[in-house]
Amino acid sequence: DKQAVLPLVPGRFVQLGSRFFTKLMPTPLQAPPKWVAVNKSLAKELGLDDHFFDSKQVLLALAGNGSVDKDSANECDANDEGVNGQTYYGHTPLATVYSGHQFGAWAGQLGDGRAILLGESLDQYGEWQEWQLKGAGKTPYSRFGDGRAVLRSSIREYLCSEAMYALGIPTTRALALVTSEDKVYREEVETAAIVTRVAPSFIRFGHFEHFASLGDTASLKQLADFVLMHYYPECVEQENAYAAMFAEIVKRTAELIAHWQSVGFCHGVMNTDNMSILGLTIDYGPYGFLDAYDAKHICNHSDHQGRYAYQQQPYIGHWNLVRLANCFVPLVSQESLIAILNTYRDSFEQKYLALFRQKIGLQQAHPTDASLIHDMLSTLQPYQVDFSLFFRELAKVKLSSLDENGQVQIPSSLSALFKAHHLGNFQRWFSLYIKRLQQENSDDNRREQAMNRINPIYVLRNYLLQQAIEKAEQGDFSEVNRLQQCMADPFTEKQAFADYAQEPPLWAAEICVSCSS
Ligand code: AMP
Ligand code: MG
Ligand code: MG
Repeated sequence: DKQAVLPLVPGRFVQLGSRFFTKLMPTPLQAPPKWVAVNKSLAKELGLDDHFFDSKQVLLALAGNGSVDKDSANECDANDEGVNGQTYYGHTPLATVYSGHQFGAWAGQLGDGRAILLGESLDQYGEWQEWQLKGAGKTPYSRFGDGRAVLRSSIREYLCSEAMYALGIPTTRALALVTSEDKVYREEVETAAIVTRVAPSFIRFGHFEHFASLGDTASLKQLADFVLMHYYPECVEQENAYAAMFAEIVKRTAELIAHWQSVGFCHGVMNTDNMSILGLTIDYGPYGFLDAYDAKHICNHSDHQGRYAYQQQPYIGHWNLVRLANCFVPLVSQESLIAILNTYRDSFEQKYLALFRQKIGLQQAHPTDASLIHDMLSTLQPYQVDFSLFFRELAKVKLSSLDENGQVQIPSSLSALFKAHHLGNFQRWFSLYIKRLQQENSDDNRREQAMNRINPIYVLRNYLLQQAIEKAEQGDFSEVNRLQQCMADPFTEKQAFADYAQEPPLWAAEICVSCSS
């Protein structure tokens, strides 16, 4: 029964019309595909049955190898003629066109160079979710690329999408990861893989920039109306719906980046074509989580200027929103756009402060909190303290660490994270912190529990990924699956994952992650 293989309908994006995409079929992998990993909990959220991944047909469909069958077109929208009369299990796959600014410069037309939208399905919560195959072959937007993705980068995307989700951070999701013996040529010969990505929409700032750059205001307005109607319906009733939507995009972007900062996530390629119009984390390439805290950390080895360094991310979010604001000029007055852009800083700072207050266990807000948090981070920097483990150890401290005589005692498991013997600066900060906790009559046990609910003990560190990738390249996917399982619940300490809760080994510093994927 071919119709039942994937529970998709053609999707609303098709309604935008041919200026927005090219219909095309995925390019099959030559060698037989196999699962690397499947995401059963996302499958459940999508309302798929327990045995969804047991089907050979599903494996082929998510590998781009599904047979193309005209007869299944009866599932298709009556107006949809498919790709040259053919469909993919009753669906019309397509690649969308977008443009963008890369590393601060206008890059012109880009588009889905290796991602193919299959269609969408209604999830358990009544929301439409689009399904994309990433790495499913060339499209008219591939430029010099081969339309493929390598196993290494696909594992990174698959695992991090779900790790971010479990951290409570808005993101595209990953349903499945397949590979085959097909070869892909990068700096070395590598193995092909395809990730099935899922999100309400993959529309980026770059989609707007595309039509703005062409001076095609009619299409731009059509796109804005589409996003408004389907994704920001609460803005439709507003006096200026486009302005209300832009304000919401600004807020979501600011809050997204505050979330990133709070877990030490560095995106690595914050080009405008990698900025989601829904405020989701999208395009997992040379990302990295901070190991030792370093405000200037650059995760992408191709980013020589450090444009996308950890501490730059909040500014880049704003820079990218300015590019988007330029697209909205035909729809919203310039004064309004500027006023809305000016809300970015406040939205970011409020969210950032709220998250970091929780991270250090403060229940009340105090005017000096921002400087307490800022001083904490700048104090950590020279000691090369592990960013994630720091908060887990900080959660264990007791109010009695500071006695009535002002004598302070830093617990040894906390001081062990510092790469120094004299913790003078930190000791001063620590006294202020304990005083602050004493002021709000903080309860040691409750604070520890609350802090452990927001500070992950497990983060998807590059060296952990590297270990899983090296095994997977030998055909052993056990570490990929173990990491997936661990990162699905990153807050609860478990004996079985004790090895993931360590500081990285010395060789981790040698890992080089670049855009080549
Ligand atoms: P990224 O740097 O991942 O955001 O990609 C920038 C652009 O390059 C997008 O249009 C991608 O679709 C395209 N691209 C990246 N890798 C490939 C590839 N292997 N084949 C075709 N297009 C690609
Ligand atoms: Mg991209
Ligand atoms: Mg990419």
